[in-house]
Amino acid sequence: MEGKLIIFSAPSGAGKTTIVRHLLYRHSDKISFSISASTRLPREGEVDKKDYYFISKEEFLHRIAKKEFIEFEEVYSGTFYGTLRSEVERIWALGKHVIFDIDVEGGLHLKRKFGDRALAIFVQPPSLDVLVQRLRGRGTDSEEKLGERIAKAEKELGYADRFDVILKNDDLNLACSEAEQLLLAFLARE
Ligand code: 5GP
Repeated sequence: MEGKLIIFSAPSGAGKTTIVRHLLYRHSDKISFSISASTRLPREGEVDKKDYYFISKEEFLHRIAKKEFIEFEEVYSGTFYGTLRSEVERIWALGKHVIFDIDVEGGLHLKRKFGDRALAIFVQPPSLDVLVQRLRGRGTDSEEKLGERIAKAEKELGYADRFDVILKNDDLNLACSEAEQLLLAFLARE
């Protein structure tokens, strides 16, 4: 079996993490989550090696130098996120396909690299206003970090049409079932 990539990208707060979790819950026999490396601190409830490989900036830079990343980015100033080649290979070796929750630039990067082997899905929130409300409601970020996330989200909304599919997330249940149909159709493809 040739392992495939299912990429979910969106501005922060668009609901992609919830959708990805739903797919993992329903199809854990077929897909597994690509655990990214990140230099940010864990949020409450997050677990190392499950949500992210939480590593120091020194270690991250060292791994860049050793070419261990398929893609990486300084998603927010001073904070790096990246996909390790070893992570994707680990999942393929289990006979599963890899599902990603990564930012818009990272998603497009993987799509360029893997072509038809990858399905790149852009999760579109109802509007920028709704997105801002969701980010505020989360209450996990400082005002400064929030401002940075909002500015980035605004820019990212303009990249939607570069993806294979735009998945509207006005209604989360509907978006989850549409995502499921997209996933199954893509995996069934030769
Ligand atoms: P958060 O800090 O909210 O967990 O993630 C911030 C952003 O970084 C989200 O859009 C998330 O999808 C993205 N992200 C997580 N892992 C990666 C990765 O490996 N590469 C890239 N490019 N972005 C990532």
